[in-house]
Amino acid sequence: MLSEWFGTTGSALPANAPAADDISVTTCPACGYHIAVLFYDGGHQPLATLGWPRDAAAAQAMEKLPLRFVRCVDCGHVFNAAFDYTRVPYTDQPNRMFNRGARWSRFLEELRTDMLYRLPERPTVVEIGHGEGTFLEALAAARPEGRYLGFDPHGATHPHHPSVEFHRALFHPQSDLPRLKPDLLISRHVLEHLTDPLGFVQGLSFAASLAGIQPLLYLEVPCIDRALDHLRTEDFYYEHNSHFTTESFSRMLARSFTSIDALDHGYGGEVVFAFLRLKGRLEHLVHARHAKGFALLAESSRQVIMLELANLHLSGQRVAFWGGTGKCAAFLHAHQADAARFPVVVDSDPDKAGTYVPGTGQRIEFRDVLLTEPAAVIIVPTQWRARDIVEEAARAGIVYQSLLIPHNGHLVDYFTAAHPYGKPSSQTKEPALV
Ligand SMILES: [Zn+2]
Repeated sequence: MLSEWFGTTGSALPANAPAADDISVTTCPACGYHIAVLFYDGGHQPLATLGWPRDAAAAQAMEKLPLRFVRCVDCGHVFNAAFDYTRVPYTDQPNRMFNRGARWSRFLEELRTDMLYRLPERPTVVEIGHGEGTFLEALAAARPEGRYLGFDPHGATHPHHPSVEFHRALFHPQSDLPRLKPDLLISRHVLEHLTDPLGFVQGLSFAASLAGIQPLLYLEVPCIDRALDHLRTEDFYYEHNSHFTTESFSRMLARSFTSIDALDHGYGGEVVFAFLRLKGRLEHLVHARHAKGFALLAESSRQVIMLELANLHLSGQRVAFWGGTGKCAAFLHAHQADAARFPVVVDSDPDKAGTYVPGTGQRIEFRDVLLTEPAAVIIVPTQWRARDIVEEAARAGIVYQSLLIPHNGHLVDYFTAAHPYGKPSSQTKEPALV
């Protein structure tokens, strides 16, 4: 056993330090950490389970795909860093690891008993990835006075039990959770097939917080603790790109803001499973609501400032924008300040003169052009450096009637409006009239 050589599962390695080539910057599917080390280089192999070659020649001609399994240094998850989801033909239900055999059936029976113990008399149960649907149907048979819904784009469509509904569709947490308010969500042998299982569980957790519910969640995945202990390499083939250890499974759950009711192993340690509560976080709701509020205000601000710009144009005053790249270009573009209505854009940087505003196309001139062709109104999109620009204009002898900055959804007068961007000293405060 490797554990006799190196200690307990996953915790010990020989003293060999990884070489630079062994280290990848790649996102761990289980915990989101970005550093992983080469764990098993299986070379190139064809699909092992979903290719279904029709004859020997087709089998031998199958395209070979890279097996570059790495291990996350933070949570110990093992995954194929060279995996490409589009190369796997999920036209049919992905093969379940186990489906027959007395010991497997006993595991499922015990699991069912455990689930029923945790459920009310008339439960609503959702299974994400129901596959052939046998687990959900058996649950419904044991407690028929409930509602059992399976969601699986490749799953069975015709249930035998009247309490069961199968949907050949993805489960959409944001809309389906508040609509169905399930007592229990089940996902068995699905997470290891997803490119982003952490995102999947976090999505469920966030949707539950938004819906104000705390459903029970049952997750089950294959566990490679024993594969690590006994140097099993045949577990690592192309379709099985993501492998949980007890540690990486637990870390994913911890990062998803769930509280664990029970975490255990089944089938001789070959699977790890957990009953969880999706508990959500107050900060998530605060940030989400703030984001939505900002988005709504940003859009109304955009409309208002576009109207203010249109009115400025109609007033016939000569308008100049001070700044034509970066944030200034973003402002001009967002507010559709086109070159036909607003041809004058100047910059403090002589090196930018002669270049053009990305998107809107005004030719950028050095600010001194305003000495010979003054503008009545100067707009400074970068309000945070307006004070420097006001002082610069004064030093250069540039005159204007008003200087506007965008602030709280409007164009406001820099000199008279209340804003946090400072005011120039008294020598430069009064703009000269054009
Ligand atoms: Zn990780």
